[in-house]
Amino acid sequence: MLEIQNLSVEIGGRRILNGINLNVENGFKNVLFGPNGAGKSALLMTLMGFSGYKVVEGKIIFKGEDITNMSVYERAQMGLGIMAQRPPNMSGVKLRSLLGVISKSDSKYDELAETLDMVRFLDRDINVGFSGGEIKRSELLQLSVQNPDMVLLDEPESGVDLVSIAQLGITIKELLGGKGKCAGERCKHGKSALIITHTGQVLDYVEADRGFILCNGKVMCSGNPYEMLEDIKSQGYEECIKCKMNYL
Ligand code: ADP
Ligand code: MG
Ligand code: MG
Repeated sequence: MLEIQNLSVEIGGRRILNGINLNVENGFKNVLFGPNGAGKSALLMTLMGFSGYKVVEGKIIFKGEDITNMSVYERAQMGLGIMAQRPPNMSGVKLRSLLGVISKSDSKYDELAETLDMVRFLDRDINVGFSGGEIKRSELLQLSVQNPDMVLLDEPESGVDLVSIAQLGITIKELLGGKGKCAGERCKHGKSALIITHTGQVLDYVEADRGFILCNGKVMCSGNPYEMLEDIKSQGYEECIKCKMNYL
């Protein structure tokens, strides 16, 4: 579904990502761990094609096509979607207007807005004055309405209280669901996903397949995501950076 090949990225002339190789097979849910500032968000933003992330080496293949130089719009049309860590405020744009552009029918987003307790936010400017949890729910609502084949989640549970985490987790589980066609040996049911998490709470709702640890813009390890999470929790990232944990 997604192949990241030797990808190096600069922001403002500074190298942020260095020779990243990472795949997400059709239907797989892979997890990206790593300390603050490792470049996790930069990787997801680069995959989505946002400006400011300059690919200086390597390429991104999505559904067999080289999307490295495609616009955000083209990538979204192809079925790539993101729930951003820190989406911008959009003064003057109502959430309802954006959802109308994303979806083709109103009924779809009305129901989802109800599920995510976002109905009263539909006629407010996007993210303006929203709490941390409300921003996440708004992002997830937009993503669910888009219903992409490949989902990028950037710390979906950060800054969210426990009750809202359950609400988000259930909606994420539904979004990634097990429905749809799938063929081939390295193929699982449901959507493909690349998920950034610090706490691992989202993994209570998503059955993860493979984990990667990103440090200083490089993928240092890959392996069982649940084992990785346990090791990170008990030993921190120091050991991961040296990659003493024998995942590779
Ligand atoms: P993570 O998500 O792993 O915590 P980020 O991808 O947000 O890390 O950041 C990686 C590095 O890139 C950090 O050193 C950060 O300061 C830098 N960076 C991110 N965005 C910008 C930007 N717009 N301008 C300059 N540096 C940036
Ligand atoms: Mg961070
Ligand atoms: Mg980040």
